[in-house]
Amino acid sequence: MITVEQAITIIQANTEATQTFEIKKVREALDSVLFEDVKSPIDMPPFRQSAMDGYAINLSETDTYTIIGEVKAGDGHHPTLKKGEAVRIFTGAPVPDTANAVVMQEKTLVEHNHLKINALVADNENIRPLGEQVLKGEIALKKGTRLTPAAIAFLTSLGILEISTFKKPSIALVATGNELIDAGQTLGYGQIYESNTSMLNAALKPLGFTEVNSYKVEDQYEHTVNLLDNIISNHDVVLISGGISVGDYDFVGQALEELGVNELFYKVNQKPGKPLFFGKKGHKMVFALPGNPAAALSCFYVYVYPALQKMSGNKSMYLNRTNAISTSNFAIKGDRAQFLKAIYNQGKVEILDGQNSSMLHTFALANALVYVPETSGSIKISDTVEVMLLPIN
Ligand code: AMP
Ligand code: MG
Repeated sequence: MITVEQAITIIQANTEATQTFEIKKVREALDSVLFEDVKSPIDMPPFRQSAMDGYAINLSETDTYTIIGEVKAGDGHHPTLKKGEAVRIFTGAPVPDTANAVVMQEKTLVEHNHLKINALVADNENIRPLGEQVLKGEIALKKGTRLTPAAIAFLTSLGILEISTFKKPSIALVATGNELIDAGQTLGYGQIYESNTSMLNAALKPLGFTEVNSYKVEDQYEHTVNLLDNIISNHDVVLISGGISVGDYDFVGQALEELGVNELFYKVNQKPGKPLFFGKKGHKMVFALPGNPAAALSCFYVYVYPALQKMSGNKSMYLNRTNAISTSNFAIKGDRAQFLKAIYNQGKVEILDGQNSSMLHTFALANALVYVPETSGSIKISDTVEVMLLPIN
């Protein structure tokens, strides 16, 4: 059995950023990564802009100016100022070419059309120079930049509507198990509602993965082989849940072997999620996650999430990690590495009760996983522990 670190390294070594791009509307490209440098089609700001409400002046030696007019945001023209003249001006308005400073109104006194300035004025103060952020033709954002809300706004402020992004992989979610029925149906004895596909769907959506399809297969060997064959052909990444343990009705491992999926590892010395499988068929990536929902989700965040980020061109792949002070005691038996559902808040972390791999209730309250490496032993209140922050914060 391999360690958590070995599993992460194997996945890394077998994952590549896609060579394919897709054109996206900027406003729909949240969390996508730029496939090429984006050059600005305009100067930003596109004109000399006032950064304050106040007075634009043509500097003279005296501290008294004659106000000859007004420029407000959106005005398409402006007056010409002679030395000693000023115009009333507002934030965002174009600064007259003949003005060389904007004095904030708090530093002035106005009587009729006379302006008195009560402070020293520096050349060009409170003027945002033309092209201060970026000049026309310069690179606005580089290849590899992940599009945050601010990046989307920046590109939009340059008038850019479409960009080329690393194509996000298409993903199949496969639930396995005779016991699974869809929510909305009446539960029969022995049945449970299938929740792993909605869980993984919900984890993927905010990360900008839109090509996600869900499937369900019974615990039957031929069905499993046929369905997986089809699914692997039609998707870049396949996330199977359940059917990967050693039970008599766990057919996933055998089916993947039959289909020529090359096993890169099976079983990791961790809790939860020991029976994790990772393999590839050509460029197709196959993860078989444990069926237990809390284990499946831990494995998703620790192993699948970084792989998907890398495939999508993202350089920052892993969950953010930080140290925190534990506010809980937690007894650890055995030597397996552990991922403990926890609530992180401002440098402190509470390890939750109910760490069983079936317990979604606990995961539903968590915003972080405490990572306890192999053989590190029990945790006591005030111990410093390592925390992985879930990308839901
Ligand atoms: P398995 O790995 O197939 O043995 O499943 C382990 C546990 O997870 C069993 O209790 C299953 O009923 C449960 N389980 C498997 N798949 C799902 C799913 N898609 N949604 C909810 N529970 C599941
Ligand atoms: Mg099963």
